[in-house]
Amino acid sequence: MKIQSIDPATGELLESFEETSSLRIDRVLAAAHAAFLEWRAVAFVIRTKMMREASRVLRARKDEYARTMTREMGKPIVQAESEVDKCAWVCEYYADHAEGLLSEQPRETDASRSYIRFDPLGPVLAVMPWNFPFWQVFRFAAPALMAGNAGILKHASNVPRCALAIEEVFREAGFPPGLFSTLLVGPSKVSSLIADPRIVAVTLTGSDQAGSKIAEQAGRELKKTVLELGGSDPFVVLEDADLAAAARTAADARLINSGQSCIAAKRFIVVEPVADRFLELFLNELRSRRVGDPMERETQVGPQARTDLRDALHRQVEESVKRGAKALLGGEVPRGKGAFYPPTLLTAVDKGMPAFDEETFGPVAAVIRAKDESDAVRLANDSVFGLGASLWTQDRARAERVAAEIEAGSVFVNGLVKSDPRLPFGGIKRSGYGRELSEYGIREFVNIKSVWIA
Ligand code: NAP
Repeated sequence: MKIQSIDPATGELLESFEETSSLRIDRVLAAAHAAFLEWRAVAFVIRTKMMREASRVLRARKDEYARTMTREMGKPIVQAESEVDKCAWVCEYYADHAEGLLSEQPRETDASRSYIRFDPLGPVLAVMPWNFPFWQVFRFAAPALMAGNAGILKHASNVPRCALAIEEVFREAGFPPGLFSTLLVGPSKVSSLIADPRIVAVTLTGSDQAGSKIAEQAGRELKKTVLELGGSDPFVVLEDADLAAAARTAADARLINSGQSCIAAKRFIVVEPVADRFLELFLNELRSRRVGDPMERETQVGPQARTDLRDALHRQVEESVKRGAKALLGGEVPRGKGAFYPPTLLTAVDKGMPAFDEETFGPVAAVIRAKDESDAVRLANDSVFGLGASLWTQDRARAERVAAEIEAGSVFVNGLVKSDPRLPFGGIKRSGYGRELSEYGIREFVNIKSVWIA
């Protein structure tokens, strides 16, 4: 199998790579295991120095890495630059906080001394998606390496250049050879990697279908998994919301990364008294966003990452319309080259339509009317997913009450759902399990060890 890098804005083949051979995979796993045995004994002060250096390399090469992302998966260049900055931030965050987050915790028991320690596990396999090709990897790698583990990256097959660039960051930052490596392999190689005794655990960020497969394979081997999967995030607008701010953020939340974000708002659930006004404002916001060449700094929405994904998104729109949804904006595949899809607004969306039941991974907004607050909460929770949720009301007490009722890994009130190294990130239901970021993320791939001394 060839791994190809294709520019989704033009369809041009940029580069073609041979899959990593079985012989090389074996060497990479052996090197990761050997590097781990030394790395786990390395003091935090040294680990911190190297992770700070990784952050410096990212900042120094920001333009180059941002262009690599934009060329390979079509992300608007300004957003690609912010992504590199965010990766530098997560490296700095864990460089500065890992030791504290993993420090021994004394416990009063019948022992003369008892405490909990957090020991590293070994090489962790990271199966990653193309949508935030740097960020998804760094938010796993920064805590995992700081905790004393090694990392093996199997990135999405359409972003091989990004995958190799990430390996380069850790190499240039001075991490031990083999501690973090990239394998250019397709999904069929994942089960043998999971089965390899040198791999101790697996993290996947991707679709729920890939999550089921990987959890099944890891289950057979009794290896721990963290699954960051898809979502159909609700964006709930109550009658006392600041509608102009809600509409502006709704457009940002739906169109960020050209609509290809797991925590992009996807179902806009608006209570009846303000539904018409919100719809009008939202439509204007979506219309005002600039679609175009992702290399241009003014572009807000670029192409989709691959034409097959764009076509699958369009089929979801067509099927929803066939079942009664109305396309107020977009909904047509544009002529010309590239994997472009326009910002699309669907109204009269209901259960039984792909735009309600499934994840729409592109710039397609589904507006759903709710009778009142409790109907809005019912609709928000009526999903197989439970990743993020955005809630709009100017009443703080009401916001906190409704936030408690929403089935999601995070609820952002009067704001766009985003990830932040200081807050745990992850989902429930078919959005996966486990958490990344914060103290919860760094403790996913450690041995939580109790020590009891008589
Ligand atoms: P995907 O098709 O599931 O692929 C993700 C990764 O899994 C890729 O490396 C892919 O490899 C691999 N993969 C796919 N099927 C596999 C299988 N059967 N066995 C082993 N590996 C397999 O997802 P995507 O299209 O790249 O990314 C979009 C999805 O990721 C969306 O559902 C999105 O919501 C989700 N996502 C979730 C989060 C989160 O934090 N919760 C964040 C970002 C994205 P190949 O590329 O080689 O096929």
